[in-house]
Amino acid sequence: MTSIHTASMSYINRYYEETRERHSIIFITAKHKSPFAPTWDMVKQHKAGTMSDEEYTDLYMKKMRALWKKDRSLFDEILDEPSVVLVCFCPTGKFCHRHLLANIFEKLGATNYGECT
Ligand SMILES: [Zn+2]
Repeated sequence: MTSIHTASMSYINRYYEETRERHSIIFITAKHKSPFAPTWDMVKQHKAGTMSDEEYTDLYMKKMRALWKKDRSLFDEILDEPSVVLVCFCPTGKFCHRHLLANIFEKLGATNYGECT
């Protein structure tokens, strides 16, 4: 079963080669058109402070449940990798969907090793 890690874009920019040698790097941002990204509306509203962490979490979990129903193979592809790093733009230590997604994969049987720092 896969090992899940999370990292910020700035971490990956700094340690790209070392990280790539040991893990599959998966960008989960709206900019990368990832199926695991939040919607642009969620990104904008959360950034503007008009959407709370709780609302964002609720919408994100709903989006992921819908994705699971629609195309479960997207999750299986990640669970088939030996080691994965989920990457988005949010700085380390901030509320962020990469941690929500890591928790989802943990529930699906992966081991969550947390943030690369
Ligand atoms: Zn993020």
